[in-house]
Formats: sequence, C-alpha cells, structure tokens
Amino acid sequence: MSSFTQGLEILLQQLRSLDRENRPRVDQSNLDRIERLKIALAEHLRTETTVGTSSRLRQAYAAAAPEDVPDPELRARHSEAAAARSSVTVEHELDPTVDLVPTKNKDDQERRLAALRETVLVCTKCAHLAEFRHSVVFGVGSPKAELMFVGEAPGADEDLRGEPFVGKAGELLTRIIETMGFARSEVYIANVLKCRPDMPKGSSGNRPPTPEEMQTCLPYLRAQIEIIQPKVMVALGGVAMKGLFGTSEPMKSLRGRWHSFGDIPVMATFHPSYLLRNQALSEKRKVWEDMLRVLERLQAPITQRQRNFFLSKA
Ligand code: URA
Repeated sequence: MSSFTQGLEILLQQLRSLDRENRPRVDQSNLDRIERLKIALAEHLRTETTVGTSSRLRQAYAAAAPEDVPDPELRARHSEAAAARSSVTVEHELDPTVDLVPTKNKDDQERRLAALRETVLVCTKCAHLAEFRHSVVFGVGSPKAELMFVGEAPGADEDLRGEPFVGKAGELLTRIIETMGFARSEVYIANVLKCRPDMPKGSSGNRPPTPEEMQTCLPYLRAQIEIIQPKVMVALGGVAMKGLFGTSEPMKSLRGRWHSFGDIPVMATFHPSYLLRNQALSEKRKVWEDMLRVLERLQAPITQRQRNFFLSKA
C-alpha cells in the first residue's frame, strides 16, 4: 500500500472516530470531508499506476481542515501540503468531481463520464432545484467529442426529457451542428446548470440560472470538460459566459472571439433562442461566422457553400 493510501486510510479513521465520539464539532462538513476522502481514495487506487501522487496527496489533505488531523505527523504533512498548495496556481477550488479526474489522461472517457453522471444525477446541493426538477440534465453526446457546446440551464422540455437542448432552441442548435457537418451524437452538449431553474408554483416558462446556482454546479461541468477534453468549446449566450468566466460583458462584445477555459479555446456566440427571437439574416450570419471560426480551429474541411451561408444576396 502506498504512503498516500496509508495516509488517507489513517485520515479516514480519524474522521470516522470524530463521528463516533459525537462531539459538537462533528457536523455535516466533517461527513462531507469523509465522503470526499473516500472517493479520493477509491479513485487513487484506480489510477495509482497512471497518475503522479503528489498533487493528489495535496488535494486529499486539503479536503480535511488542519484541526481535524489529530496525529502530529499527519498534521505536519497537512501543513506541508497547504504550503505546497499555496505555492502553485490552483485553477479550480477543491471539489471531488474535479480532483478525481487526472488531466491529460484520455483513457476510459466513457466509463469516467458515466461514473460522474451517477454522482450528478443524485446531486442535492441546490435543495430548491432538487425539489423542483423532474430530472438532472447531465449532458449528451460523445465522450470523445472534439467539439463541446455549453448552454445555460435546462428548460421545461429538457427537464422532462432529461436531455439538453431538445426544445425549440435545441432544434435550432441541432440544425447548426448538422450544418457544420457533424451529427449531434458526435459533439457533446451540456449546460452550466444541470437542473431546471425553479419557477413559482403554477407559472410556466423558464428563468435564467442565478450566478450562485451556476457557481455551485460549475464543478460538474469542469469535470465533464476534463474528461472529454474537447479541442474547442462553444459558449451559447451571455449566461453561459457568465457561468464559465464570471463575465457580465454584453454578448455583442464577447461573441466572435476566442476565450480560454484553462487550455481550451472557447468561442462565444449568441444563444439559439436569441436567433429564434431575432430572425434577421445579419444575426444568423454572425453566429454562422462564429461557427466557421470553430471549424477553422478544428481544421475541419469547409466548403465554399458553407462559407457563403446567410450572406445577403444583394
Ligand atoms: N437553453 C439552454 O441553455 N440549455 C438547454 O438545455 C435548453 C435551452
């Protein structure tokens, strides 16, 4: 057993004993830490041979607060790990769904995405959304997709079907994807928020997700991205851009240019429902030009006919 595994086992035992002692400090956050460590341990055992342990060790210790590590040696290692952590650029906050995914490892994407899906399907982090939803809308498409589309949140149709972009806006997105030369099943489609934003009882329609809801759910999208590792992403609309980057800039200045989510280039474009509301050829052409940029970045073949779509005839 590696020292990493031993360390985790000891830490788990310590945390479990806190639980048994029924001390006032043993609250839900301790139980959450135990859960995170259990998952980290299982995942570590699975990937022990393929992934370096040092960052995992740091992350595992980071999952426990220093005062929860009673053993002096472990406590010292915890502090060491904290110091190491503060000296590196941590791209995202600690979350088991992110930490479990070894970056740059494209093995077994289907299985890992399926495992992540199981976790997300039972998520209750947003109690109000968990209560309201019919389904968690995880995402759809190829785990090996080179191209990934990110929307904001499921609407009523998606909530009922359990699949993103299946309503009117979804039909338009599918047409865009097919016009680019892909089948819907070849790309990956997901939302920042996996649950339909709740609506007052008796009211129809959809509301945009709040920044807090998106923030809470973002680790799941990050994990999806890290598993799939698409070559290019497309962010659909300002709310998705806000969820991904925290920006509130208007879409007219965000679209048509590249943004970076980690090392993945992201093209921002209008949400398909904007195109449903605004049928002007000029707006369709803008979105299409964004998609041509995406195809170029993917080094996908582009026909002259494709280049000319939505150009005014005059
Ligand atoms: N709009 C989105 O942003 N996502 C969906 O899944 C459907 C509509």
